[in-house]
Amino acid sequence: MEKNPVYLDYNASALMRPAVADLMRDLASVPGNASSIHVFGRQARKHVEHAREQIAALAGTHPNYVTFTSGATEANNAVLKHFSGKRVLVSAIEHPSVLESAPNAERIPVTHDGVIDMARFESMLDGDDIALISVMLVNNETGVIQPIEELVRRARAKHPRVFFHTDAVQAAGKIPFALSMLGVDYLSLSAHKMGGPQGIGALLCAPGSEPVPFIHGGGQEKRQRAGTENVAAIAGLGLAAAMAQQELPRFQELAKLRDELEQTLKNAAPMITIFGQKAPRVANTSNIGLPGIAANTQLMNLDIEGIAVSSGSACSSGTVKPSHVLEAMHASPDLTSHALRISMGWNTKPDDMKRLAEAWLKMYDRVRDKVKKA
Ligand code: PMP
Repeated sequence: MEKNPVYLDYNASALMRPAVADLMRDLASVPGNASSIHVFGRQARKHVEHAREQIAALAGTHPNYVTFTSGATEANNAVLKHFSGKRVLVSAIEHPSVLESAPNAERIPVTHDGVIDMARFESMLDGDDIALISVMLVNNETGVIQPIEELVRRARAKHPRVFFHTDAVQAAGKIPFALSMLGVDYLSLSAHKMGGPQGIGALLCAPGSEPVPFIHGGGQEKRQRAGTENVAAIAGLGLAAAMAQQELPRFQELAKLRDELEQTLKNAAPMITIFGQKAPRVANTSNIGLPGIAANTQLMNLDIEGIAVSSGSACSSGTVKPSHVLEAMHASPDLTSHALRISMGWNTKPDDMKRLAEAWLKMYDRVRDKVKKA
């Protein structure tokens, strides 16, 4: 590959911020269990509590309500499994860590645009008592933003005691939000989508929510999540969150690059579908379906040109399965395994998007005979 590869897969895992890597490198060589009372332990504790404050600031809440976890998968599992056996509603477009933790949950449908179908949601609320509702704030495949405040308001009007969880992994650092404004009881976060390390995240529990102790052992994390804290990773999470929060206004500028890309591709190939384009979306994500051309084929063509994006659907053992998100959005079978997700981040430059557009158009030229016309 003669040119530097272009990384446009931030929704899968963002590039780590150099300041985060520096901090973690420094902390990795310092001893200290955050529960020890000697000077090393106290230093470690200081880093952990500072990170807790940074996470609380990002999510507009108090540090007391932050519990560190190994990532959002763990946070989602903890909440959903706590309510198993009771009536639970989840949106049809949730991450597998929600869907598979609540196999018996009822699925709330979404519209063609990928937003919760309000009328169907209302009618689901008419049934028996509901213990928990889980709807993500931003979808990882399309970037579509869900009206969480409105959903919470409608849910509590009919079920005053219902608990509400939101997976805010793909919202953090992309849009401002606050736990209390959203009105949710539980909120999951992950460091590596914000330029922090992989394997660390947080579960936020609002005052009045039911405690969900999920790992038993020592008394760490208010007895919710036992285990010696990973100080370097927690500090990395905190710094990534603080930087992402500070850069929120700049992040919105990515929408211009996204819109230009979508316009360029649409001009060349009017039959493409841009999923969620008519809905409120975060600035960095574009999900583009090219009917009849398998996502794998598209991915490989772009990879040859040094462009790293991902398919809009789950990829396992080399085969692309139809995306449950696009299926829920009523996409045709010609599109559910034929979409690419482009996701920008803190280090994306206009030139990266120019190179992506060139590579996509080159790929399109090669496959255009096989593209299905509507
Ligand atoms: N929820 C969403 C919406 C995600 O995009 C991801 C990451 N793919 C997760 C949860 C899981 O996060 P983690 O990698 O921290 O377990």
